[in-house]
Amino acid sequence: MSKGLLIVLSGPSGVGKGTVCTALRPKMPKLIYSVSATTRSPRLGEEDGVNYFFKTKEQFADMIATDQLLEYAEYVGNFYGTPRDFVERTLDSGKDIILEIEVQGALKVKEKFPEGIFVFLLPPSMDELKDRIRGRGTEHPDIINHRMSVAEDEINLMRHYDYAVVNDEIDLACKRIESIITAEHCKIK
Ligand code: 5GP
Repeated sequence: MSKGLLIVLSGPSGVGKGTVCTALRPKMPKLIYSVSATTRSPRLGEEDGVNYFFKTKEQFADMIATDQLLEYAEYVGNFYGTPRDFVERTLDSGKDIILEIEVQGALKVKEKFPEGIFVFLLPPSMDELKDRIRGRGTEHPDIINHRMSVAEDEINLMRHYDYAVVNDEIDLACKRIESIITAEHCKIK
């Protein structure tokens, strides 16, 4: 049995990674989603174990110390990390897994899994990105500005990725990602 594909989806905050992943679920029912650990507080409607594993700083530090994380990064004042075991078990069982993570973490994953497929989701424009972060209505203006400046840094690192997908329309973005995964499965090597 061959191993599954590791797909990493990154892109600046507010670009719609979460929305694209939600829309992908019914279209690609066999694709498995990695649930990250974070020290960020839950947003309204977010559930522990579904959106994230919500951890205290101490619990997160313990996960790092005991090598439970495949990668982790600090992002706008909070820690985020990918539980290693789940990813490795999913790949070994031949299933594809998608990680929705920011760029620093994605680059660490690339060192460990150079055979992974790295997809960068882009906003149609930077103005549109700011509108989307504002529109979410969950972030303080300082955090919005911080997220915007991080977004510019992140876009500058896009060259390390294999594919760029513009999220102009959710359905189109999903189709592009589905096509990428299908093509990767058809590769001879
Ligand atoms: P948010 O607070 O908006 O849910 O996420 C902030 C950023 O952290 C997003 O870019 C998201 O993709 C990223 N992120 C979520 N989980 C992880 C993770 O496990 N590792 C890393 N490196 N980034 C993550």
